[in-house]
Amino acid sequence: MPWFSGIPKINNKIIAPNERWDKIYNSINSIFPKQTAPRGMRSEIKPYLDSVTENRDILIQYDSKVLANELISVLRPGRTTTLLLADENQINDIQREYGGLINGPYVNIELKEKGPDTKKYPVLRLLSKRNYDTALEILGSLKSPYAFNVIVKNLIVKVELAAFCKGGDRRARWRLDNIHPEFAEENGCYGVAAKLLYYILDILKADLKRKNIENYTSSIDQAKKICMKEFNEKEIQFVNNIYPKCSCPMCLNEISLIDFFRNGRNDPYSIVFGHYEYRGARSGDVHIGKNSFWIHRLCNSIQGIYTIEETIQILKDLILNHSKRIIDWELRG
Ligand SMILES: [Zn+2]
Repeated sequence: MPWFSGIPKINNKIIAPNERWDKIYNSINSIFPKQTAPRGMRSEIKPYLDSVTENRDILIQYDSKVLANELISVLRPGRTTTLLLADENQINDIQREYGGLINGPYVNIELKEKGPDTKKYPVLRLLSKRNYDTALEILGSLKSPYAFNVIVKNLIVKVELAAFCKGGDRRARWRLDNIHPEFAEENGCYGVAAKLLYYILDILKADLKRKNIENYTSSIDQAKKICMKEFNEKEIQFVNNIYPKCSCPMCLNEISLIDFFRNGRNDPYSIVFGHYEYRGARSGDVHIGKNSFWIHRLCNSIQGIYTIEETIQILKDLILNHSKRIIDWELRG
């Protein structure tokens, strides 16, 4: 049975898989069929990734598991920090100055200064904003069930990390000391995973609807029902009648499926795990389903340690103050 299925080097081998998670995992993982991609397809696609934008029309013809995987790896920051640069001349200048290596859509740069605590020179990748945007756009346009299978698998991993693991070293939260800020009861983790996936299933459904793909609605509804088994009665009412479907609860703008693949280090509209009540508050356990949602990274940083309502009040007060007192920053010196 899958357990932290896609997470490499997970440190939880001694923890037995739990049926509650298996049921949810299997219901979602089986919505779309797997594909045995033709041999050599990856090496066929690879050269076109040198410029995702210029080769867009060729790439979209490979609507498959392989293309979805390749695009996701272009978008994901991975271990190496990726900088998105809007100005491609700037990328060329930096490449020349640092002797950077061109590697697909990236330019790899080895920095000239190393930190005091490391022997290696840090490497970072430069990616043009243009290629980033096109990769997102192509990923969002894919229609094959095989591409959806890959997308969903990646989203399950995102949920597993958020719900079950401490950030960084990826230990299960309930294995941490209970004074640790990321400690959570195992029970709460299932509630969080179910809630986060439930929201993703709504977003997935909206994406398929937009693309006029209708064959998967009943398996998605079935998976939603399995997630709902982890909800209490009030939570069911809340997700059905009150929560703004497919939206960020702070800015109330729509969250689309590809937003989950935005670069978390660069893109303020990437999607992160959000809390209604701040987890650092430690007023009881906050790592529970009813406290969990998806939120833009930008909105999450605006929210800080407050609840959504508190933040809105803070922002209202702030705007009111600025309407009374205008600072002319042009005169700052
Ligand atoms: Zn937002």
